[in-house]
Amino acid sequence: MISQFAPTDIGPPHYWDKMPEMSKKNYGQWQYHEYLKPGVMKHVGPAGALYTVRVGSPRLLSIETLRWFADIADKYCDGKLRFTSRHNVEFLLEDESKIDALVEEVEAAGWPVGGTGKSLKNMLHTQGWVHCHSAATDASGTVKAVMDDLFEYFKKDDLPAKLKISMACCLNMCGAVHCSDIAWVGIHRKIPRVNDAEVAHSCEIPNIIASCPKAAIKPNPKAKSVTINEEKCMYCGNCFSVCPALPIADPENDGIAIFVGGKVSNARTAPTFSKLAVPYIPNEPPRWDTLVKTIRHLVEVWVENARKGERYGEWIERIGWEKFFELTGLEFTDKHIDDFTFSVKTFHTGNGFKFTK
Ligand code: SF4
Ligand code: SF4
Repeated sequence: MISQFAPTDIGPPHYWDKMPEMSKKNYGQWQYHEYLKPGVMKHVGPAGALYTVRVGSPRLLSIETLRWFADIADKYCDGKLRFTSRHNVEFLLEDESKIDALVEEVEAAGWPVGGTGKSLKNMLHTQGWVHCHSAATDASGTVKAVMDDLFEYFKKDDLPAKLKISMACCLNMCGAVHCSDIAWVGIHRKIPRVNDAEVAHSCEIPNIIASCPKAAIKPNPKAKSVTINEEKCMYCGNCFSVCPALPIADPENDGIAIFVGGKVSNARTAPTFSKLAVPYIPNEPPRWDTLVKTIRHLVEVWVENARKGERYGEWIERIGWEKFFELTGLEFTDKHIDDFTFSVKTFHTGNGFKFTK
């Protein structure tokens, strides 16, 4: 029998072997943590303290950059670093006296230290036009444009609460759009275009039909192809994943929707799903001006109006969604009415929904 810990070339090494010594000693016994300054944290347990320096990364990194990070970890942290789910690199040190030199060297090379406490976290994003076949917008491009604009908030620690912004480039949502304070998602708005001749030559009809979560695809025996019911289609692009003869990408109609108010944390209030704020913004590469302006506006209205400690969704729940639309000046449209099968909890169509102006 192969031991769970036997060395193999399958999968990653066992996590215990790669942990900092202080993490092993304090394992399961951590007592508290502090934010020493933006980007620097201290975690304390009975065996002592472990310091973390958080460095924002753009997610797509070259081998040269990874080797450079590894060299920094060797120099200051006994070779220990880790990546967070928001694409930060975290250097983990036991020696507090090395923190300033590490921060200085990393920042001198152009890497920002920040994103802890009540700051803007590094943005979570997906593959975009660079890598994924079903993207309705770009990931790295939109995030670069928005983060360039909001960068000041990554370096500060004085927002009402932590601010997590995410993006996903289609509604299959590899990014955390459904549970972030502010998020945008790429949306297709037209059904896939069926190329009958290509479907007949290169795709398996049963596979195409099975790929559709809305049962919108039917066989078209005469053409040895399929037809798509426009009423049922939700523009997810799953059928295109199994059959390249059903392209869905459309430069004229694809774009972005913005969601707000989600969170994963159960601190103070229960975790919540994000809700629609802006139904559609066209793709505007290379700098996505409307998206950038809208996200900054959403951040600034929250900063001006939220109480200390109030996450984005908590602020909206306190003031009410009607007030949120009034304060932000966003248009309320039929797209904001949730008529999904399981929408009972979010259905907001009763006489309680009243704008004050
Ligand atoms: Fe691909 Fe959609 Fe995931 Fe983006 S969100 S990487 S388009 S599956
Ligand atoms: Fe079905 Fe999605 Fe294809 Fe529409 S895009 S037909 S919902 S699989």
